[in-house]
Amino acid sequence: MSERVILVVLDGLNHDVGQHAMGYLHALCEAGRATYHALDCELPAMSRPLYECLLTGDRPVDSGVVNNDVVRRSTGTSLFDLAVAQGRRTAAAAYHWVSELYVEAPFDRTRHRFRHDTDAAIQAGLFYWRDHYPDDHLFSDAEMLRQLHAPDFLLVHSMNIDDVGHRDGADSPAYRNAARRADIALADYLPLWMAEGYQILVTADHGMNADRSHSGTLAEERRVPLWTLGGAFTNQRVTGLSQTELCGTLATLMGLSHDKAVASALLAPERAS
Ligand SMILES: [Zn+2]
Repeated sequence: MSERVILVVLDGLNHDVGQHAMGYLHALCEAGRATYHALDCELPAMSRPLYECLLTGDRPVDSGVVNNDVVRRSTGTSLFDLAVAQGRRTAAAAYHWVSELYVEAPFDRTRHRFRHDTDAAIQAGLFYWRDHYPDDHLFSDAEMLRQLHAPDFLLVHSMNIDDVGHRDGADSPAYRNAARRADIALADYLPLWMAEGYQILVTADHGMNADRSHSGTLAEERRVPLWTLGGAFTNQRVTGLSQTELCGTLATLMGLSHDKAVASALLAPERAS
């Protein structure tokens, strides 16, 4: 198995809104081309700790990235590191904290915004720092990197849903509409990525609560969506998933040697053996 994979992280999208606001993604589910799952994120339900969890499989209490103020390169082995060490290509269009975790900290807006370095864990990168950097621009950035660099692993990380959630809270028209806009914008790219044969995960790092924040154990903070797209995935809804298993699952799909936990139930039966 040597698939190419795309991980889309819609920052701050909770399960409650994810299961009703994302019309295009759920259209794919109804057509049998995607499957919707849900899972509880690790704690604390905060961005930087959970970028690290998604990309290394390590819980925040184990990675040491326990809040957003831990500004240093990851000490874990990320999917970027694994892929590059085994001769695969990587790219990311993401918030600058991802650059700090896997390229260099602290982020320098001039030197680090655009990256192209085949020796780095993220070989091709485009990083932004404003939380309202438009999602449709970000998806376009990601597609540009994909066309230029043909990555085997591409991270696509948008911020607008989280940004609006912090201003208006999860129980607001603005938050729900930010999710709808991300879904509409993604519809311009997902068909192409599927046609190109990518195996795709669309998920969130954490959710959002009505207090305009997230970090704790409320369902709306912790429960996040997960869509799987591509023939390597099962078309059955899987429960009991752990966020720590997503990194290893993608590594397995890519055919990488690794010792991370894998959610075998997410893989199509003929792929899981
Ligand atoms: Zn946030």
